[in-house]
Formats: sequence, C-alpha cells, structure tokens
Amino acid sequence: MTTEIVSSPELKKIAPVFGQLSFDNHEQIVFCNDKDTGLKAIIGIHNTVLGPALGGTRMWDYATEWDALNDVLRLSRGMTYKSAITGLNLGGGKAVILGDAKTQKTPELMLRFGEFVNSLGGKYITAEDVGMATSDMDLVRTVTPYVTGISEDKGGAGNPSPITAYGVFMGMKAAAKFTYGSDVLEDKKVFVQGIGNVGEALVEHLTNEGAKVFITDINRERLESVRDKYQATIYEGNNLYEEEMDIYAPCALGATINDDTIYQLKAKIIAGAANNQLAEENKHGMILRERGIVYAPDFLINAGGIINVYAELENYGKQEIIRKTENIYNTTLEILTKANVKNITTFQAAFEIAQARIDARKNEQ
Ligand code: NAD
Repeated sequence: MTTEIVSSPELKKIAPVFGQLSFDNHEQIVFCNDKDTGLKAIIGIHNTVLGPALGGTRMWDYATEWDALNDVLRLSRGMTYKSAITGLNLGGGKAVILGDAKTQKTPELMLRFGEFVNSLGGKYITAEDVGMATSDMDLVRTVTPYVTGISEDKGGAGNPSPITAYGVFMGMKAAAKFTYGSDVLEDKKVFVQGIGNVGEALVEHLTNEGAKVFITDINRERLESVRDKYQATIYEGNNLYEEEMDIYAPCALGATINDDTIYQLKAKIIAGAANNQLAEENKHGMILRERGIVYAPDFLINAGGIINVYAELENYGKQEIIRKTENIYNTTLEILTKANVKNITTFQAAFEIAQARIDARKNEQ
C-alpha cells in the first residue's frame, strides 16, 4: 500500500504538509506517535524569531488526520501573531492530540506527550487548551520543564480566563472610544455569546460598568446561574445577529462571522474572546469595514491568557500581568486608527504590526 502511494505519479504531486492551505512557512512540524499509550499528536512550530514557540495543547476527536494537521497549523500561526502584537518575546506554536479527551486521555498518554515536548529542548513550550485541564499540565510538568499554565500551588500563574476576560474588556472599551468617542460602556447594549470561563468574567466587568448585558449559551443551567449572579438578561430569541445592539462579544466558538451572519449583523462593534471569529479573515474583514462595523481583532484582545502564562517564564507578578493586559486598550486603538487611515481591515492592520516586529527582530539577528 505504501509503495503504491509513493509510486503513484498523481499522489506524488500532492503536497500534504507544505501544500496545506494553513501552511505558512512553519519552521517545524513534529508528528508524535506512541503505540503503547495510543498517543497520536502533532506539534506545530510556526515561528521562533521572537522566542520559544508557546501555545496550548488541544485534545480533540478530529474527523480526519488532515483536520488535525490543518488545525494545528492554523492555531500555531495564530500564536505567532498574538504574541508578536502583544509585545511578548515568544514565538508561535501549538499542539493537538488526536482523540476524545473524555474517554481517551490517560495519565500515561499525557506523560508520553510530555516526553515528546521535552525532546524539543524548549523550542516549543506547551500550555492548556481545549480538552486539557491544569491538572494535565501539572502531570506534563513531571517530565518536562517546558510547560506553562500549571497550578498556582505548584508555582504557576493559574487559570488564565479572568485575565483573558479583562483584556477583552480593555479591547472593547478601546473600540467604544474609537466608535463613540468615549470608552464608557454604561447603558451600552452588549450581547455576550457563550458565558463559559471567559464569558462569565466579561459579564462581571460589563455589569460593574453599568452596561445592558444580554447573554446566550447552549447550557441553560449556566445561563440561569450567570443571570442570577449579575442580573444579566437571558436572550430568548433565536437569532442574535439580527438584534439591535452596540456590541457583539463572541465568547464561544470561532467563525460566527460568516457568509450567513455578516449581512444580518446590526452590532456597531465586535469584540470578544473566541479565536478565529471571522470565517474568512480578508473577505469578512473587508465586508465589516464596508458595513461600518468596528472589529477588534480576536488574537489581539484575547491575549490576556498568554500574558498570564508568560509571567511564569519571565517571573513577573500580578501587577505586570495587569499592566500588559491593560495595554491591549492602547494597541487596539492604534490598530483601529491605522486600519481607518489605510483603508484596510483591522485584522490586516494588526497583522502588519505583528509582522513588522518579527521582521525587525530577524534583521537584528
Ligand atoms: P468555555 O468552554 O469555558 O466556555 C465556552 C462557553 O460557550 C460554554 O459555556 C459553552 O456552553 C458555550 N457555547 C458553546 N457553543 C455555543 C453556542 N453555539 N452558542 C452559545 N454558547 C455556546 O471556554 P472559555 O475558556 O470561556 O473560552 C471561550 C472562547 O475564548 C473560546 O473560543 C476560547 O478558545 C477563547 N479563548 C479563551 C482563552 C482563555 O483564557 N480561556 C484565551 C484565549 C481565547
């Protein structure tokens, strides 16, 4: 079978890795396979010009191995730009473990994964992502120092979600300043879609500021608990995109701004925590611009989490974490202004600044 694949002239032309759409000059891609534990993982190292490639490990039951490869490539690239725009001396990397985290994650599998991370000698530093818990990172820490996001009692920075939410709040305020001339969110109608770890913390900030907060989630119990805690309003309609609102805050899934939703959207600002909110960065970014909807790029305003784990590497404390996170306000304003002046998408404006920082460092080396 293998011989057939290699010898087929048609298949020889296929570029399964370097030819992936999401391949963007990644430096290194590591396929990890261990028969004994059933581990199948891919570590994507996109760029290490600014520092070691840091990014979480996601465990997901992908439909195909191609999906897993595509995901890790897309996510590791995203980490490069997130760290660069935030001013951190980190490169971009990410790992995916193929499998169902609920049924296939074992301590042996996590330890074996940790050994693979260790074998890269610090070029890649892992952290928590979907399907992972702080306890998994604690386990990985027993076989490698190249892990962040471990528990506070083990010297880690703990749960990043409250800091992520604070950064999103800062980005949202900057977008309000840009749009309305004032960053006060009192009486602004804000829809928070997904009130998980980050969404709930964001609702708290918004409530404290006197915003009119509407919440949606697929989990009814959570909805009721967050409503009772913060007096937020549960959105009972079935199409939030069509609702009149000031700010739409996607805090659940990616790609909610897509061909179906983009022309329905009535929000004036989009600012949320979810990764990859635009189904197609350039196309949908441009439509938002044309429609006059201000989009605060996700990879910029949700960087609080990485700022939090970076503290573990640089040994800085809570105060510096807060200072760096509050700086998201200034960077967001700078990017929104630049996008307007140059008539480009806000995503592109952020991307250009991040890329310029990487290029400048490369030239110094
Ligand atoms: P979470 O799993 O705690 O919360 C997600 C919430 O979204 C859950 O309550 C879930 O029920 C809800 N949800 C799922 N599908 C939904 C749908 N179709 N409509 C409405 N709600 C839905 O995750 P989180 O840690 O709060 O992260 C939220 C988003 O922010 C994710 O996209 C994540 O990748 C991103 N993010 C998180 C961090 C962090 O520090 N946790 C950092 C950067 C980015």
